[in-house]
Amino acid sequence: MKKTGVINVLFASFEAAPFIKTGGLGDVAGSLPEALRSKNLDIRVIMPKLSAIPEDLIKDAEFVESYYVPLSWRNQYCGLFKLVKGKMTYYFLDNEFYFKRNRVYGEFDDAERVGFFSKAVLESIEHMDDFHPDIIHCNDWHTALIPVFLHEHYMKVPGFDRIKTVYTTHNLKFQGQFSDFVLGNVLGLEGTSADHQLRQKNGGINFTQAAVRYADRVTTVSRTYAEEICGPYYGEGLDGLLREYSGKLCGIVNGIDTKDWNPARDRNIAKKYKADDLSGKAACKAALQRELGLEENPDVPLLAIVSRLTEQKGFDLVLYDLPYIEGMNAQLAILGTGERKFEDAFRYHQGIHPDKIAVRLEFDEALSHRFYAGSDIFVMPSRFEPCGLSQMISMRYGTLPIVRETGGLKDTVIPYNRYTGEGTGFSFSNYNGEELMDKIREACALYSDNREAWQQLMRNAMSVDFSWKAAAKEYKKIYSSLV
Ligand code: ADP
Repeated sequence: MKKTGVINVLFASFEAAPFIKTGGLGDVAGSLPEALRSKNLDIRVIMPKLSAIPEDLIKDAEFVESYYVPLSWRNQYCGLFKLVKGKMTYYFLDNEFYFKRNRVYGEFDDAERVGFFSKAVLESIEHMDDFHPDIIHCNDWHTALIPVFLHEHYMKVPGFDRIKTVYTTHNLKFQGQFSDFVLGNVLGLEGTSADHQLRQKNGGINFTQAAVRYADRVTTVSRTYAEEICGPYYGEGLDGLLREYSGKLCGIVNGIDTKDWNPARDRNIAKKYKADDLSGKAACKAALQRELGLEENPDVPLLAIVSRLTEQKGFDLVLYDLPYIEGMNAQLAILGTGERKFEDAFRYHQGIHPDKIAVRLEFDEALSHRFYAGSDIFVMPSRFEPCGLSQMISMRYGTLPIVRETGGLKDTVIPYNRYTGEGTGFSFSNYNGEELMDKIREACALYSDNREAWQQLMRNAMSVDFSWKAAAKEYKKIYSSLV
């Protein structure tokens, strides 16, 4: 039963750490709800019971009920599971046909899988006997159909007419665009009022476009990105729509899980350290150099990348700069998976300079901790970056980021000021390999020539509060304004 004065929020996401994470969305869904939970805010996470979730993490989930979810001409089984972990409640929606797959995303029937998930979230509400949401907080295009189905099919169901929706885009590049066929056959929305809201001007349908229209509030993950996406360069074709709805759009900078990402307590790293005693970081660096087969030398600046290997992250600039980096007294370590052309190119460079370039083409959470702790400089020259977590994580580990001034990178990294010694990293403005190279040279020179200034920057970076506190306050304000 709902307690008076308490706002109930159902936080819908296709992934959430620690259960499953493919990128930043998993981190956010894993840590933001916990930061939001309070005596006045009952927030529960709902996600698919994906087969990729390690069994031991959900073995204690209790089966609540099963029911059938209508989706166009289909009627699909859905099992509702509930797991209370610490103070958080998680719901998992089970359907092996949709969720027992090798990959989280990128399946041929993703439109149907996320359509089912969105519909099943709404259907599940009547089966959660101790919880009825005031707000459904939807995250990314996998949940973009929730506001659409809510308006189309559930407004006449008692209790549903008061449910408000918040839609957060974590990356506008991914919108959920499909052929017209999906509209009727898959979603059962052809000829409804949602039909027009989903259709794009130039053909096909777009889940995010409809979510922006139907949701009560739209948010994204940094202030700068919220401004950027209202213009054509970053707007991914939706800038006109976002300008039209700018009254309900705002940007809230993400935080990170400061318990998980904490060099003073991190069990994954060779030696723990903190801002007022940095000695452990040298041990972490030596261990990482050894592990990666790089020359074990504390004086060579070690540059690192932990990332999806995609265009977005600025890898064409990194490739342009690689021959220069190879000619310098520096090392580069890359941990990532993604586009074949980048994987091949980095593997090739590692083959030529194995003493200087180390590449690990895998997704390895524990190794990522060793990368953040063991390197000196983190390279993140993104073409666009809604928020970015890696630069915040690296700063927390005293690894100074070099970033391009876009989106959340601009909002979270204070560029080094050589006159005042202020700053938490390095930044450049234009998407250009030469500008990135200038910053790499500047950072490496400072590391080698002025250790005192470098250590001051490390301490500055490590003392910034990257917790969810500030963001949680802003999300609470949005929730309160809706109920
Ligand atoms: P995005 O969500 O665009 O991929 P973010 O910077 O917001 O980028 O978040 C990326 C998250 O995924 C970080 O926690 C980063 O450490 C992690 N990550 C990316 N690639 C890997 C990898 N290959 N192995 C382990 N963690 C990774």
